[in-house]
Amino acid sequence: MSPEGDGAPRARREEAPETCLVPGCGEEALRHLALAEARRAFSSLPEKGRRAPLCRAHYKAWKKATKAERELSRLGR
Ligand SMILES: [Zn+2]
Repeated sequence: MSPEGDGAPRARREEAPETCLVPGCGEEALRHLALAEARRAFSSLPEKGRRAPLCRAHYKAWKKATKAERELSRLGR
């Protein structure tokens, strides 16, 4: 399971637009992470559902916040 797309575009679904799960944000969500993954960077996320939609800015922030951790786990594979 890979939560990061690294530029690979996924089929865009034109359904109800989701908004970023980060409290107080409200931007349109462009990326989806597993909620558990997202909470590693944003501990204030509500525990609602299993997936965390994030806007572009918060996705970038998440990537930055989890970069070191993910590089460590990459070594283990
Ligand atoms: Zn956001």
